[in-house]
Amino acid sequence: MENESVKCLIIGSGPAGYTAAIYASRANLAPVLYEGLEPGGQLTTTTHIENFPGHPNGITGVQLMEDMKEQAVKYGADVRFGIATAVDFSKKPFRVTIDGRHSIEADSVIVATGATARYLGLESEQFYKGMGVSACATCDGFLYKGKNVAVVGGGDTACEEASYLAGICNKVYMIVRKDYLRASKAMQHKVLDTPNIEVLFGHNTKEVLGDEAGVNGVLLTDDAGQDKVIDVDGFFLAIGHHPNTELFRGQLTLDQAGYIVTEPGTAKTNIEGVFAAGDVQDPHYRQAVTAAGSGCKAALDCERYLMTLGEE
Ligand code: NDP
Repeated sequence: MENESVKCLIIGSGPAGYTAAIYASRANLAPVLYEGLEPGGQLTTTTHIENFPGHPNGITGVQLMEDMKEQAVKYGADVRFGIATAVDFSKKPFRVTIDGRHSIEADSVIVATGATARYLGLESEQFYKGMGVSACATCDGFLYKGKNVAVVGGGDTACEEASYLAGICNKVYMIVRKDYLRASKAMQHKVLDTPNIEVLFGHNTKEVLGDEAGVNGVLLTDDAGQDKVIDVDGFFLAIGHHPNTELFRGQLTLDQAGYIVTEPGTAKTNIEGVFAAGDVQDPHYRQAVTAAGSGCKAALDCERYLMTLGEE
C-alpha cells in the first residue's frame, strides 16, 4: 500500500468540503481533499440555486460547486478524485485509506461526506431504479420530456423537483402522505400555482408499476384506503436524506439518526483533531450556505488545533 503524510485531510466535496479547503489552503495547511463518490456533492443534482448569497440572478448547483473547487485549487488545495474506504481515528496521526489501496497519515481530518437520498424501500422501486425510478430530477428529468411523472414527498426538495419537472414534462403528480406540504411557504405557493402540477394529498405509494420498458404507473392508496393508479413514466423520490457516516460508525459519536455529533458552536467531534462540517452533522438546516459556513468553522478549528500540536 502506498503511504503519504498530510497535515489536513478533507473527506468530501460539497460546499462544506470546498469551503474548508479554501480556508485551510489560505492558512497554509496544505489540505488534501478527496472528492468522494459524488464530486461536488448533492448540489450538483439540484437545479437553479436562488438563495446562495452573492448570486442575485441565481446559479446552477454544478457551477457553484465548480467555482468553489476552482477557488480552493487557486489557493493551493490538492483536490483529488477518490473515496475514503477506511479510517482509523484510534491513534495519532490518523490513518485514512483511499480506494482501498492508498494509505494516508493525517494530523487532522475534516469530515464533510454529506448525505444521500432516501428511498421508500419497495421492491418494485428498487427493480425499476434507472428504468423510471430516480432520486434526481435534474439528472434524469430530460428523459421524460412531454411525459407524465410523479414526485414523492412534500418538502422543499420535492417542491423544487416538481417545479423543475413541470417545465419539461406534460404533467407532474406530487404524492404527499400528509394533508399539507412541509416545504417553505414560497415553495408551496410555487407548486400550487403551477397548472401542470397536481398535488395528491393524503396519498401513499403502494407499488411502482411497469414492464420490460420501465415504469408505466404507480399504485397509490389514500387515507380512506382507496387504491388508484396514476399513469406515469417517471417516479422521483424526494423524501429526505440520510447522513453518509457508515465509515465512521464506532469511531465518531453519531446521533440516533446517524449524524455526527459536534460540540455545540464548533466543528469538533468526540475525537480531538477530527472535525465535521456540512450535512453530515446537520439534520436541521441542510442549506448550501450553512454547509459552507460550517466548512469555514471546521477549517478554523482545525487550524487552531494544528497550532496547539506545534506548541507541544
Ligand atoms: P424533508 O425532510 O424536509 O421532507 C421530506 C418529505 O418527504 C416530507 O414531506 C415527508 O413527509 C416526506 N416523506 C418522508 N418519508 C416518506 C415516506 N416514507 N413516504 C412518503 N413521504 C415521505 O426533506 P427535504 O429533502 O425536502 O429537505 C431537507 C432540508 O433541506 C429541509 O430543511 C429543506 O428546507 C432544505 N431544502 C432547502 C432548499 C432550498 O432552500 N432551496 C431546497 C431543498 C431542501 P412528512 O412531511 O409527512 O414527514
